[in-house]
Amino acid sequence: MSVNIILLGPPGAGKGTQAANLTQTRGLVQLSTGDMLREAQASGSEMGRRVAEVMAKGQLVTDDIVIGLIREKLAQGGSGFIFDGFPRTLAQADALTELLNDMGQSLDAVIELRVNDEVLVDRIVGRAEQARAAGQPVRADDNAESLKTRLMAYYKQTSPLIGYYHAKGMLKAVDGLKDIDAVAGDIAALLPLP
Ligand code: ADP
Repeated sequence: MSVNIILLGPPGAGKGTQAANLTQTRGLVQLSTGDMLREAQASGSEMGRRVAEVMAKGQLVTDDIVIGLIREKLAQGGSGFIFDGFPRTLAQADALTELLNDMGQSLDAVIELRVNDEVLVDRIVGRAEQARAAGQPVRADDNAESLKTRLMAYYKQTSPLIGYYHAKGMLKAVDGLKDIDAVAGDIAALLPLP
């Protein structure tokens, strides 16, 4: 059975890792707005140039841009999507409902990855150090200053979605402090059997 789910949680909560895992185990299609924006940046397009600066500071890119990116992907058709890093605002949440409705689809679950801030800082600083040690590029927003802004953006603009989806009866939470496989198991247990 195909499901459309959102992974919700602060930066560093493990959304990307778990989304990638679900593409393997359940054949779901990962739609990460962060990845799409980084691709736009790498392509050197006008839009990429505009968003790069906003992302490096740790602020949110405008709703119009990210909704446009998601609209483009969904226009290619399909089902069984994992939304990773989207929606991040209530306006994006409403746009997603509408886009899925237009396709005759709906959202099946919103999975919140619960973690605490100290762990987030350690994970993100750790990710930057690992990349550096491996000679790989370090994300421009993986530094203490941007992280502060990213966390603030999360609490101010994104965390209201938790209450919103809870009120809709769609929210399920997992403990994101467990190890990667345990979190994957907890998420799998929340989804209908394939
Ligand atoms: P993380 O969750 O680790 O912060 P992401 O890769 O999801 O990283 O996003 C990186 C940056 O891309 C965000 O800080 C923001 O600037 C931008 N971004 C990604 N998704 C969205 C979105 N849905 N709305 C607005 N900005 C976004």
